[in-house]
Amino acid sequence: MQHLIDNQSCVRCPALVANRSRIVHGYGDPSARIVFIGEAPGQHGADQTGIPFTHDRSGARLQRMLTALGLMNNSQPTEHPRWQCFVTNVVRCCPPENRTPTRTEQINCLPFLLDELTQLNPYLIIPIGRLALRAVVEYYLETDPGSIRVAHAIPLRTNSRIIVPMVHPARISHAQIEAFIAVMQEILDAMRKCGLL
Ligand code: SF4
Repeated sequence: MQHLIDNQSCVRCPALVANRSRIVHGYGDPSARIVFIGEAPGQHGADQTGIPFTHDRSGARLQRMLTALGLMNNSQPTEHPRWQCFVTNVVRCCPPENRTPTRTEQINCLPFLLDELTQLNPYLIIPIGRLALRAVVEYYLETDPGSIRVAHAIPLRTNSRIIVPMVHPARISHAQIEAFIAVMQEILDAMRKCGLL
């Protein structure tokens, strides 16, 4: 398990620099062809631990889904996850009161995400929430992704990748979790057969 980027000195977003405890880059298996992309580190979670989707309720929900999909070895949510995927965010610093990052902050931080995606070359990408969906779909498909609630769990395909949008764990319903798990299991089974997992 490792971070692919170690920059801890970026100061491009003054409001976030004043609020953050640390810069939180992506974390996980660098050889994985699967990447989950969230919005930003949570105030009570990743901002404290330095690892995305840990130590808060959204992290626990996502980790339970990863366990159900066979992408995480830990049986319970943990601050030191060992997952068979990579987990990152569009924005690397925690916004004040967990507000949505501004468009400028997203653009400022995008080079870090693109650097990770270049290194990972993922086959399967899961944008988590509206902001991540827009960043991923604009980058790979150059289109407007529309609503995350409509796009949820419906695979989008490029020539060499699959994108499966997911409603943010803070707002996801049980029915949406079931739909997401079912779609993901089909894709993961196919990836196993092809040696991609
Ligand atoms: S959010 Fe990204 S671009 Fe802005 S200060 Fe943090 S690391 Fe730098």
